[in-house]
Amino acid sequence: MGKIDPKNYDIQTCSVRSGQARTPENENSEPIFLTSSFVFNNAAEAAARFAGDEPGNIYSRFTNPTVKTFEDRLAAMEGGERCIGTSSGMSAIMTTCMSLLKAGDHIVSSRSIFGSTIGLFNNVLSKFGITTTFVPLTDYEAWANAITPQTKLLFLESPSNPLMEIADMRRLADLAHENDCLLVVDNCFCTPALQLPFKFGTDIVIHSATKYLDGQGRCVGGAIIGPEKLMNDDVFGFLRTAGPSMSPFNAWVFLKGLETLGIRMQAHCQNAQIIAEWLETQKQVSRVYFPGLASHPQHDLAEKQQTGPGGIVSFEIKGGKDAAWKLIDGTNLFSITANLGDVKSTITHPATTTHHKLTDEQRAEVGISGGLIRLSVGHESVDDLIKDLDAALTG
Ligand SMILES: *Cc1c(COP(=O)(O)O)cnc(C)c1O
Repeated sequence: MGKIDPKNYDIQTCSVRSGQARTPENENSEPIFLTSSFVFNNAAEAAARFAGDEPGNIYSRFTNPTVKTFEDRLAAMEGGERCIGTSSGMSAIMTTCMSLLKAGDHIVSSRSIFGSTIGLFNNVLSKFGITTTFVPLTDYEAWANAITPQTKLLFLESPSNPLMEIADMRRLADLAHENDCLLVVDNCFCTPALQLPFKFGTDIVIHSATKYLDGQGRCVGGAIIGPEKLMNDDVFGFLRTAGPSMSPFNAWVFLKGLETLGIRMQAHCQNAQIIAEWLETQKQVSRVYFPGLASHPQHDLAEKQQTGPGGIVSFEIKGGKDAAWKLIDGTNLFSITANLGDVKSTITHPATTTHHKLTDEQRAEVGISGGLIRLSVGHESVDDLIKDLDAALTG
């Protein structure tokens, strides 16, 4: 089997075939290389590898064949030049910022991003002299106004968590490039199966592999995909020195997950669409946030940028926090957990879990009310899921 060139194949073919380099054993499925280091044939070869004069593995903090298979496969699917696996989604964001920014630099970020990312920007990067201004995701004037001569990076998630707002990536990529900045997009909610941010001018794509890439809630990991030049010199240089590297075992779980990502995302989208439409007809539900609904304010933009609405449905229930908690506790089939992207459906109360660190005012500003509930819709029968929600709503 020759190496397959992703340019000649559809993403679905890449998800199954890309990145594999068979060993002399001629295995069909990808092996796991559980080895911390690699041996050299002689001292001269060791010296050449360390000097970077000769390619090859040295130590699994730097490179590992199983991690490389995952990286090459995900890069092929995203249509990016190089992917670097990391120990978690958060370490992917940390590695991107620490490797590309320095003291005095400035980030403009959507305010509707993962809670730990806000914490990383506000509490960690700030200690090293990197500051962040947060703006509403879809207020393009606010993005433009927040940019200063020190701004190096624009950061967003689309759709956002948990209100599923959609950003116009092309517009923000143009704004970034006019100001010599990089646009970084966390593509966690859509995955390459539904959205390819590079097509819209994005410079760097981030993943929490923990979510849909694994898809069955087993391992924690992350990834950064971007142009060779940035990835080789800065990002890989930081990773091999600082060490937030992906474990080969986790890489194997993720690369097998990528093989089924396309069909899994289709099933997530289908079930989520049916549940969102059903929720919209319930009198106890005051609002449903789902890009697949015509009532979604950026439904058209979502259709332009994404090939499916995704598997996350948020909705507001009348009666605030008490009613939300009652519904959550009344379900049987939904796991009460903040994780998402699993074949098992999950249910979350953002105001008291993922967004509990925000003040009441900040929560009101970003639209996270006490009655808001987030579902990550899985692969159980959608009829059973609706029966379960119905019983919890009326019970
Ligand atoms: C979970 C998540 C992260 C962080 O990923 P970890 O693997 O938990 O570190 C980052 N961004 C988004 C959108 C997430 O949902």
